[in-house]
Amino acid sequence: MSAAPPNQARAGELRRLLQRAAHAYYVLDAPEMEDSVYDRLYRELLELEAAQPELITPDSPSQRVGRAPAEGFSSVEHRIGLLSLDNAFNPGDLEAWYGRLLKVLDREPATPLEMVGELKIDGNALALSYEHGLLVQAATRGDGERGEQITANVRTIASVPLRLQLENPPAWVEVRGEALIPDDTFAAINAERAARGETLFANPRNACAGTLRQLDPKVVAARRLDFFAYTLHLPQDTPQGPSSQWQSLQWLQAAGFKVNPNAKLLPNLAAVQAFFRAWDTGRRALPYATDGVVVKLNDLRLQDAAGFTQKAPRWAIALKYAAEEAPSILLRLACQVGRTGVVTPVAEFEPVPLAGTTVSRATLHNADRLAELDLHAGDTIVVRKAGEIIPEVVRVLSELRPPGAARLELPQVCPECGSELVREEGEAATRCVNSSCPAILRGALRHWVSKGALDVDGLGAKLIEQLVDRGLVGSIADLYGLDAALLASLERMGTKSADNLVVALAASKQQPWHRQLYGLGIHHVGEVNAKALAKAFPSAADLATAAVNTPESITAVFGIGAEIAQSLQQWFATPANQLLLEDLERLGFSLAAGPEEPGAGPETPLTGQTFVLTGSLPSLSRSAAQALIEAAGGKVSGSVSKKTSYVVAGEEAGSKLSKAQSLGVPVLDEAGLKSLLPAKIATESN
Ligand code: NAD
Repeated sequence: MSAAPPNQARAGELRRLLQRAAHAYYVLDAPEMEDSVYDRLYRELLELEAAQPELITPDSPSQRVGRAPAEGFSSVEHRIGLLSLDNAFNPGDLEAWYGRLLKVLDREPATPLEMVGELKIDGNALALSYEHGLLVQAATRGDGERGEQITANVRTIASVPLRLQLENPPAWVEVRGEALIPDDTFAAINAERAARGETLFANPRNACAGTLRQLDPKVVAARRLDFFAYTLHLPQDTPQGPSSQWQSLQWLQAAGFKVNPNAKLLPNLAAVQAFFRAWDTGRRALPYATDGVVVKLNDLRLQDAAGFTQKAPRWAIALKYAAEEAPSILLRLACQVGRTGVVTPVAEFEPVPLAGTTVSRATLHNADRLAELDLHAGDTIVVRKAGEIIPEVVRVLSELRPPGAARLELPQVCPECGSELVREEGEAATRCVNSSCPAILRGALRHWVSKGALDVDGLGAKLIEQLVDRGLVGSIADLYGLDAALLASLERMGTKSADNLVVALAASKQQPWHRQLYGLGIHHVGEVNAKALAKAFPSAADLATAAVNTPESITAVFGIGAEIAQSLQQWFATPANQLLLEDLERLGFSLAAGPEEPGAGPETPLTGQTFVLTGSLPSLSRSAAQALIEAAGGKVSGSVSKKTSYVVAGEEAGSKLSKAQSLGVPVLDEAGLKSLLPAKIATESN
C-alpha cells in the first residue's frame, strides 16, 4: 500500500486530533488543549480543505457546529438555528472579512458600514423561548439545530426573566445570549471541588457548561450563573420591532434582560479596530472571562441580505485576543552555550504570532526537559508566551508526529569548541568546561558591557563575535587595549563609531564598584546581590579575603546565602580570575567603592522598607524605579509577603497586586512612590 500524500495524511491526523479535543471540550467539559491551539489547528485544517476540497469528509469538524445534544436531557429543535462565529486573529483577517461583506452587499470598496461591537463572553450560548411573555423553554446550542432542553436549570439563573416586562408581549420571542460564571464564583467552585478531592474545572466556560448540564437544578442554583442577552428574534409582523442590532439590545433591556453595558455603536472599520484594542487591555479589569470581541452589522435588513455560510453568519465576526499558546512545527534543535558554559537546548520552529509578537525560538531549558518533552524531528509542538514571559515549548502533539521521526537529544560535545560536555551528578545543567571556549568568552564580554554592569555603548553581540572569532580579544581586560584604527577596520564599523567605542570603554572605568562586581559575572551574583556585597565589602581585596578566609562574614550580609559565598570562594580562588583582577587594576579600575556609592548620604528615609514593583509605571522603567528606591535607602524584592512595606503597581499589574490586596499590604502608584522620596531624588527622576 502506498503512503498517503502529505496533505491528506496531515488533514487526517488533524481531523482525528480535533475530534478528540472537541469531545473532551464539549462532552466531557474537560478540555485537552488551549482554545488558541485548537483554533490554529482548526484553521490549518480549513486551509488544507480550501486548497483541496476533496480532503473534506462529512465528519470533519469544519462541517458541524458544537456537538450533538447529551444523553440524559431531552433534545429540542431550535426555532431558529444557533450558529457559530467566524474568527479573525489579526487586522488582516478583519479587513478580509469586511471586504467580503462589502462584496456580498454589493457596496463600493471601503464603504463605511455601521457595526455594533460587543464583548465575546466566554460562556455558553443559550436559546430562550418565550410564549406570550412567559419563559417556556431554555436550551443549549448543541449542534446548532438541536440542543439539550435545560429549562429547569435555566430557571435558577436570576438574570433570566421568567416573564418579560412588557405590556403586550409578542406571541413568541426567541432570545439568545451567554450564560456565564463570574471569576470569583469560578474560584469558589474550584476551591470547593479541591476540598472534596474532585477534579477541577479548567476554566469558567467549562464550569458553566458542566453546570448547565447538571441533572439537579439545586446544584445549578447554588452555582449562581449569570446571563447576558445579545440576540433577539421576533415574529415578522411584530409592530415597531427593532430594525438594528443596537435597537435589539435596547429592546432586550426594556424586556428585563441583562445586556452587557460595554456594547458600542461603531461607525466604521477604524472604530472597530479601536474597540478591539481598548478591550484587549480593558478585559483584564472585567469580573468575568472574555476571549475577544464580536462585531455585528447593525442594520438587520443588511444582515438578512448578507446571510450565512454553513457554520456562521456572514454579518458578524469574532475578533480573538492574541493567543498565548499556539502550535508550530519544529524546524531544528539548536544549542546555546552561555557565559557560564551551560548548554541550553533551544527549539527553532515556524514563526507564530503569540501575545503580540512573532516567536520562532524557545528555550527547552536542559537535557531533562528535552527528555520529558520527548521531542522528535518535525514534531508539532505547543509554544507558550504570555506577555513578557520568555517563550517556551509546553508540550508535543505526538499524534501529529511524522512517521519514523528521530528522537532529539543534547549533543555529546560542545557545539562551539568541540570539547566533551559534562553533567555533574545532581545538576540539571550540562556544561562546557573549556574556559577558552569562544562561547563562554563571548558571553562574559556581553555581560561585562551590559546595561546593569559597565554599560558600554556601541559594543553589541555582533562586534563581540568578530573580536573573539578573529582572536583580537581573549579576556575582558583585552577590550581596553583595542585601538580605534583596528576597530574601524572591522565589519560594519566606521572611524566615528570606533572612536566613540574607545571613549565609552575608557569612561566605563569610572563605573561604581558594585557594577564592576556584577560585571565579573560570578555565578549567582546578580545586580541586587552585587550591590549588597559591594556595600558590605568596599573593595575587591576585602571581598576576596572574606570569601576565602571568613565565608561567614559573607553570609552575614542580608540576602546572601551559602551558595553565593561558595561561588565567590571558588571564583576568587581561581588563578585566571586573580589575573583578571590584576589586569583590571593595572588598567585603572578602582575595584573599590568611591565616596558616593549607593545607600551613602544623609537622605535615606526608606531605610528598612521593602518594596515590590509590578506592572508598568507611566514614566519610570522598572530599573529606574528600583534605583530611586535604593537611592532613598529602601530595598526592592521580587515577591510580596506580609513583611513587604509597599507594592508599587502600574498598568497591567499581575498577581503581585492581588496578593498585596489579600495581605493588606499598602499599594502605591508612581506618584505615591515619588511622594515618599526625598525631594532631591524625586526631582532627579523627573
Ligand atoms: P466560538 O466560541 O468561537 O464563537 C461562537 C460563540 O460565541 C457563540 O456560540 C456564543 O456562545 C459566543 N458569544 C459570546 N459572546 C457573544 C456575543 N456578544 N454575540 C454572539 N456570540 C457570542 O465558537 P464555537 O463554535 O462556540 O466554538 C469554537 C470554540 O470552542 C473555538 O474558539 C475553540 O477554541 C473552542 N474549542 C476548544 C476546544 C479545546 O480543545 N480547547 C475544542 C473545541 C472547541
